[in-house]
Amino acid sequence: MQTGKGQCADRLRNRLNSRQHKAGGYPPPDESRLFRKGDASMPTVMTHALIPAALAVAAGRNRIAPRVALAGMLLAMLPDADVIGFRFGIAYADDWGHRGALHSLAMAAVMTGAVLAVRRDMRGWGSAAFLLFAAASHGLLDMLTSGGLGVALFWPVESARHFAPWRPIRVSPIGMRFLSPRGWETALSELRWVWLPCGILMLGSLALRRSLRMKA
Ligand SMILES: [Zn+2]
Repeated sequence: MQTGKGQCADRLRNRLNSRQHKAGGYPPPDESRLFRKGDASMPTVMTHALIPAALAVAAGRNRIAPRVALAGMLLAMLPDADVIGFRFGIAYADDWGHRGALHSLAMAAVMTGAVLAVRRDMRGWGSAAFLLFAAASHGLLDMLTSGGLGVALFWPVESARHFAPWRPIRVSPIGMRFLSPRGWETALSELRWVWLPCGILMLGSLALRRSLRMKA
């Protein structure tokens, strides 16, 4: 059973989403502040970290070293650090707001460059491509979610927020309350659309490598 507060938040979100849809943009900053940070910080950080982890397992430690995999997982989680902007009054729809600049492809390249600058042992085309993919995967995954504002994927070229045409992953309406019915729906949605395919990729690649080793 949804609380009055929850229904109110839903009505507000629907109103803003429909306005955003009609305008082809996003709500003005003062209204977007009414969203709580949990509205759009889903998928969870662990789900973001799973994408590069699964890729690293599938590629094998000979191609992606564990330390590079770990750096990729951190890069995949880092963009959600922008939720700290809510504490400092930075509006959701601002360039530096949640899902703004830190979620862009340009910032993914900057973050990758920063890692490569300080870690000589991670330099190399394979590692660089993996780290760039890991950092960029965050914004791309957020684009598949069903709520909140879109992602400023092409910042600083443009400030527009974008969603993918297909958005199967539910966002949680209430921070970290996973024990609520809608929290469970979010968790199940992430399990279905991210954890399950990643699990299949990891187990499939491990089984394939094992069978190839046995044949050799
Ligand atoms: Zn995010």
